[in-house]
Order: sequence, then structure tokens, then C-alpha cells
Amino acid sequence: MAIKAFSRPFTQQESISQEAIDAAVEVLKSGRLHRYNTVEDELSEVSLLEQEYANYQGSKYCLACASGGYAMSVALRAAGLQPGESVLTNTFTLAPVPGSISNAGGKPIFIEITKDLVLDLDDLSKKANSSGARFLLISHMRGHLVDMDQLMKIVNENNLILIEDCAHTMGAQWGKQKSGNFGLAGCFSTQTYKHLNSGEGGLLTSNDEEFMARAIIYSGSYMLYERHGASPKAEVFENIRLETPNYSGRMDNLRASILRPQLGNLDNNVERWNERYQLVESKLRQVKGIEVPVRFKEERYVGSSIQFRIPGISNSEAKTFIESNKKLGVELKWFGNDDPNGFTSNHKSWKYVSSQELKKSDEILSCLFDLRLPLTFTLVDCSHLSEVIIECAGQLLDQ
Ligand SMILES: *Cc1c(COP(=O)(O)O)cnc(C)c1O
Repeated sequence: MAIKAFSRPFTQQESISQEAIDAAVEVLKSGRLHRYNTVEDELSEVSLLEQEYANYQGSKYCLACASGGYAMSVALRAAGLQPGESVLTNTFTLAPVPGSISNAGGKPIFIEITKDLVLDLDDLSKKANSSGARFLLISHMRGHLVDMDQLMKIVNENNLILIEDCAHTMGAQWGKQKSGNFGLAGCFSTQTYKHLNSGEGGLLTSNDEEFMARAIIYSGSYMLYERHGASPKAEVFENIRLETPNYSGRMDNLRASILRPQLGNLDNNVERWNERYQLVESKLRQVKGIEVPVRFKEERYVGSSIQFRIPGISNSEAKTFIESNKKLGVELKWFGNDDPNGFTSNHKSWKYVSSQELKKSDEILSCLFDLRLPLTFTLVDCSHLSEVIIECAGQLLDQ
């Protein structure tokens, strides 16, 4: 019996709630869209978002800014990255990660990944040692957390300054600790395809007052840092305020107003994503030849996308597999493509970085597939798309 094609879009997020729309309309009516355009001592929507996110995250300070990529590059600068310095980071990540290192004047050194899509800690130890790098920008790519206890040992042994890219781990935890709270700073994105949606946007969190004061001045605070919602005391800015350039990258009140109501719903959405993830995962796990990354029991992840490998698949087979899924309405991403196609996640397409030999990661990426699980998919949809993938894998693996 021929399988029915899947017909739901993989890029369709849920609509913005009426509560968030009402809040946005209020901002529009006020005309005060700029975060510092406040009357008397009211806290702007952006400042309130900063307070609420710091509270959610359990961090002292939070800065709302223009994008996740901006949060990362400002974090690196505020952490003291010097021009030309090396920054250790994952081989498997999205383009804004090496981009933010380059933007901050640094040079990425890529660390291999494991087949469970997390940093290879042996390669990290080795390269931390051989490079003498001071910084690690870890990207919890696609929401996979490395063994954070082991990671922190290596970070401490090598005196690394740790910054976490939590674009895919907003709402995730390792044990009782939220992702983003392990190092100097956590960087989050509120771009449409992440866990909160304001079109574009970023959040930077930290407990370090001088770091945060520098980040706030970099973000373009026009010396109005006392109007922030979750910022260090004014005196911390004394020595920093005139030495730190303004790299404008603020968030505006319109975005903040639609994010605040969403934040209240985040933990509930995490459950909804995980229901979808676990359904697809359990179906794919039944197929011989398909391998889904294994997660640690300490990991409380957010399954907003799922990855799987078909080890041993050739490039032409991978292309056929993508095509046959596509014909049946399932859009898979493949990380082995030579040419970036609609997105870039392969180190070979970042030619501004000196080329690095990453054989282990290359082999893993060459058989790695990925799909989004937007909340607009029902469980029935998830079941259907799994059947499509299984059918196409069957055609491939039976030969
Ligand atoms: C989306 C994303 C970011 C940040 O993206 P922006 O578009 O700059 O907000 C960072 N890291 C990863 C892995 C991402 O997917």
C-alpha cells in the first residue's frame, strides 16, 4: 500500500497569542518603541523582559539584544577577547556561531563532535592544551547537552572562560541546573525558529557584574544603563562606561512585549515539544539502520527538532533519500552536503576560517539528517512523518 504524502509545513510556527498581540498593540499606541523611551520611572517592556528572563533563568543579570548572534559576539568582547585570539567551539553548529567569533575579532578552533552530536571531550582537552586558547564558546547544537560535569572539569583544569550558545537549549537543564548557567554567560535567541518567537532577538545572561556592565554599554545604552531591568549597580559602570564602545544592538519594546507572555508558556511548550520528539524518536528507533542520538539521563532537553544517522550511507544515497522524503512531503536537512543549501552548518562552507581537519565530525555529518518539529504539528502528524521517513529508509536499506 502506497503511503500518503505528508502535507504540513516544517517552518510554520504557532501564531502569536491574543495576549501578546494586545500587549504589542499597546506599545504601538504609545508610540514609545525604543527601550529608553520611558515616562517617569516606568520600566520599559524590554527592561521587564530582562527581569523576567533573569528570573526564569535564575541568573542575576540579563541583557535583551538584537539577535542570538549579537549576544554571542558581545559576550566574547565583554569577556575580554583580544583581536586574533582563538576561541574553541563545536564543529557542528550553525553559521552565526563561527560568525560571532569572527565578528568579535577571534579565530574559531573547531572541536570534533561525537555520534551523539555533542563535543568530543578528548578532542577538547587536547586542543585546549595545544592551542592555549582562553575561551570556549560551546554550542548546544540541536539541543544536545554534553556531559556537563565532565565538561566543567575540563573547563576548570584549563582555566577556560565558558560561554554557552543556548539557541536550542532555552528551557533545558542538566540535572537541576539550567543550560546557560554553567559558565560566564548564556546566549539565547528569540528568532522565529527558536523556543520564543519575536522574529529576531537575543538574550544574554550572566552573574558577573563587570562582564554585564560591559555588555550593556556595548549594546548601545546611551549611558541610560540605570533604566535596565536586570543590570549591575550604577557604580559598576564607573570605569567601564567611557572605555567601552557602543555597538548598537538593542532590543525594542515591540519585540519584548510579545516575548513576555510567551515566556510564561515556555515550560508548557517544552512538554509539548518533547511529546512530539519522543513519539518520532520511538518510531525511528525501531528501524534497523537508523540511529538516533543517545541522551544522558541528567539531560532535560527540549525536543524542538530531531536528528538521526544512517551510518554507511553514500552521498548519492543520501541525496536520493532526501529526494524521496521530499516527494512525500517530508523536508529533511542533511549536513553532508558540499554546498550550503538554505542554511550552513558545515565547517567546510566557512571559508573565512582557516581550514581544519575534522575527519571524525565529517564522517558523522555525512550521514546525519535533521528535521524540525514545530508545535503546529499534531501527534498524528508526527506519526505520519515518521512513517514517511521509515518508508524511504526502507527503500534505501533493502537494496
Ligand atoms: C539560531 C542560532 C543562533 C542564533 O541565531 P540568531 O539568528 O543570530 O538569533 C545561534 N546558534 C545556533 C546553533 C542557532 O541555531
